[in-house]
Amino acid sequence: MYQPTNFIPTDLTINSWTDLKPYFDALISSEVNDSEALGQLILHYSETLSVFHEQNAWSYINMSRETTNQEYLDRHELFATKISPELEKAANVVEKMIVNHPSFSELPDARFGQLKKKLRRELELFREENVELSAEISKLSTQYDQLTGGLTVTLDGEEMPMPKASVKLQSSDRTTRKEAWLAISEKRYSIKEEADRIYNDMLKLRVQSAKNAGYDNYRDFSHDQHQRFDYTPQDAIDFQNAIEEHIVPLAKKIGESHRDKLGLAKDDYRPWDGAGEPEGQEALKPFKTGSELLEHAVNIFSEIHPQFGENLKAMKAADLFDLESRKGKAPGGYNYGLETTGMPFIFMNAAGTHRDVVTMCHEGGHAMHTFLTNDEPMIHYRDTPSEMAETASMSMELLTAELWNKFYDQKDHIRARREHLEGIISFFPWCATVDAFQHWVYLNPNHTFEERDAYFDELNGRFTSGLIKWDGYDHFRRNAWQRQLHIFGMPFYYVEYGIAQLGALQVYRLYKQDPEAALKGYIKGLSLGSSKPLPEVWEAMGIKFDFSAETLKELVEFVQQELNDLQD
Ligand SMILES: [Zn+2]
Repeated sequence: MYQPTNFIPTDLTINSWTDLKPYFDALISSEVNDSEALGQLILHYSETLSVFHEQNAWSYINMSRETTNQEYLDRHELFATKISPELEKAANVVEKMIVNHPSFSELPDARFGQLKKKLRRELELFREENVELSAEISKLSTQYDQLTGGLTVTLDGEEMPMPKASVKLQSSDRTTRKEAWLAISEKRYSIKEEADRIYNDMLKLRVQSAKNAGYDNYRDFSHDQHQRFDYTPQDAIDFQNAIEEHIVPLAKKIGESHRDKLGLAKDDYRPWDGAGEPEGQEALKPFKTGSELLEHAVNIFSEIHPQFGENLKAMKAADLFDLESRKGKAPGGYNYGLETTGMPFIFMNAAGTHRDVVTMCHEGGHAMHTFLTNDEPMIHYRDTPSEMAETASMSMELLTAELWNKFYDQKDHIRARREHLEGIISFFPWCATVDAFQHWVYLNPNHTFEERDAYFDELNGRFTSGLIKWDGYDHFRRNAWQRQLHIFGMPFYYVEYGIAQLGALQVYRLYKQDPEAALKGYIKGLSLGSSKPLPEVWEAMGIKFDFSAETLKELVEFVQQELNDLQD
């Protein structure tokens, strides 16, 4: 853990902007005569941001754990709509001061090169009038979380939250699956109008913020805002096309073999069958409680690297997990880094499924990243771009897979690993769909609801296997984009998962050849945070930052080989 100076107490309580303002005033009025003083200013600024980020994190974590707790909602809203906007404006003043200082360009590139790029980009994009707009968007995002987090369905007389109901989609009993699928789809569809309205309001605000910053469209603005220094929007489109060409065929094969296992005729493979288990085979049941899940995770992580296990234990001792699904919890799962604690919080909605095992290992990978960067004094470098963050987490899924026998007997273990790899393949087309959808949405911002659903359906045609017969339920298919929370709250944050998966597969391939080298590279790469450009970080990991068609093809062949080895 880095040693902060005494510029700002790390346990400062923030209840309003006035609690933080004096520190920003001090930063802004500090005398900076040389590059040494400039370096000091950067550190003090980083520490101030860290204190804010930690409490901002808690305001989000608490709200997501109890979306109906008014006190938490109020505090989250206070941070999102009152404190953050003020902070953004003050941060802009400090950043201008740093970037415009005569010594800034003299700071050595080896240490400050990435910071220079990041801060310059932030300044280029900053518009005071956008601060208000992002606060508005953030409010809408909370509305969407509340809208979806509160959804329940009643099955067999039991009212249950969506993640729990989704487990029934894996049942080997077709009637159970169908009932669950219909109940879930109808419930999701019942909020369509409201979700469409929220999305449209977000869209308008986003388009306006891009215009304010001098961009033609929000897509390009968002690309720059995500600080994607190492690839272009066109690269992302090429990636979508490569997925269509090289991955969709394998995904289709996986779908066909699933349909055959269910013993269904070609024209009888229905939307409620997609996740179903063959008769006589139940869904994998790896654990019952959250604490059981955690206990196995600690053992598995320890086996990969003793320190990894210690990290999870330290989090447990500090009460930094909320794992089980509960009514009123926000959907999804996340690892939220706590900047002054030096550890993260892991949130998820575990319901005892195999997917939860994967999520735990995934978030655990993010957590290791938080630990490995916590010696870095600059928050700007502890914060990593999603392409790298997701490489850390998805690699961990693959590295832990061989140890999932803690959850399963041998037969189920093979099945779990096979399903995981199949899931990776099936994910790419969805990733391309979500990304392509947003490219279209933001390049054609004046579309109607009808056109939007129709375009999404066109993408379904390109990227799904086309094996499922939807007759009578087409409206649910056309609306399926609404279940992807990223599309609402984190626009364009999705292609990263695809890019990162390519990184993770490379890490895994290396691990199979030379575990020690792969692990050493993993630790080295993660420790770099964002202090180096992505291609350099990946190089340190022993892999290539490349998502061209050739690389994709090569990795698909590797996965195909792995799948062949896992036939039972
Ligand atoms: Zn992740």
